[in-house]
Amino acid sequence: MKSRYPCLEVNLFKLRENITIVKNMCDKNGIKLAGVIKGFSGFAEAAKMYEDAGVDFIASSRLEQLEQVKAGGVKTPCMCIRIAMLSELERLVHAAEYSLQSEIEVLKALDKAAGRKGTIHNVILMVECGDLREGFWSEEELVEAALLVENDLPNLYLAGVGVNVGCYGSVNATNAKLQEFVDKAELVEKAIGRKLDILSGGGTSSLPRILDGDMPERVNMLRVGEGIAFGKDMPDYYFYDIEGINKDVFILKAEVVEVKRKPTHPIGELVVDAFGNKPVYEDRGIRNRALVAIGRVDYGDPFDIEPVEEGIKVLGASSDHTILDIEDAGREIKVGDVIEFGIRYSSSVYLTNSPNVRYVFY
Ligand SMILES: *Cc1c(COP(=O)(O)O)cnc(C)c1O
Repeated sequence: MKSRYPCLEVNLFKLRENITIVKNMCDKNGIKLAGVIKGFSGFAEAAKMYEDAGVDFIASSRLEQLEQVKAGGVKTPCMCIRIAMLSELERLVHAAEYSLQSEIEVLKALDKAAGRKGTIHNVILMVECGDLREGFWSEEELVEAALLVENDLPNLYLAGVGVNVGCYGSVNATNAKLQEFVDKAELVEKAIGRKLDILSGGGTSSLPRILDGDMPERVNMLRVGEGIAFGKDMPDYYFYDIEGINKDVFILKAEVVEVKRKPTHPIGELVVDAFGNKPVYEDRGIRNRALVAIGRVDYGDPFDIEPVEEGIKVLGASSDHTILDIEDAGREIKVGDVIEFGIRYSSSVYLTNSPNVRYVFY
């Protein structure tokens, strides 16, 4: 087959290794693992790796991804981790065995949808602990919802409670923050008179608690996406290294369409770029540059992709072109050459949703 660019190469073997590393970390601490696949739009080939490695749940925020996973023959229980839309509950009970919830009205409607399907659907009630995205802020309302599911909604099972940290509010998953969550979980347990099966203590940003050995004992489930698929947030933002994690599961390849020596500072009266921004341009004289045929439409922010080769630097981008400084590249770069980039969560969410980008698995 003739090559077509841009393409995203996915190393399923490296992905599988990463899943196993994080799963072993969790296992040793009595923590169940939900493999979150939304960061790369959840294609079934990758979901199979999560199943092979034996994760307890496969999780996504998007029903179409979970539907795709089920259609691909994956049997691992699926979990929908975006609190549900009232309009998708019929689909939800088919696509997922578990879901995160935070609204009493939705719980009542979900109970009916599960009843119509003739199944018991498992719910995890989200508890707000300060990151200020989803979850019950009022403890009274949390307990009310828990009692409702426990006693009055026959087609729902209250599997547990969960918390979200490090998302909207950038709140750190410290031991104290997760202990706050455990305290709220115990309020629920006291009200319903039994222990909850699941205390889901966050995602990748909670992994440092395992590494430091100070995860509150009652937290027994994590929902990990970035830390498995990309492995970049831990070293770059939290300054932890998880031994053996591959940071190159995904490699982006784009084709060079122009190579020319040009000035580094624009010439003329400067207004705004194609996106209404006023970037600052450093004048470094005349340098060799390459344009590759991929742009913001495909990956979002050009500084969220990183050339693999030393000496190549991203200067900026418009919708469909990315401009690279190749003055210090270790080889001659010509039109038609292919440049490789490492990607991260923030670029992958776009790249894997772009119809222009082809997947290649190996
Ligand atoms: C995306 C998401 C996760 C996974 O987050 P990572 O930082 O990628 O590990 C976990 N829980 C919820 C509710 C999410 O939306």
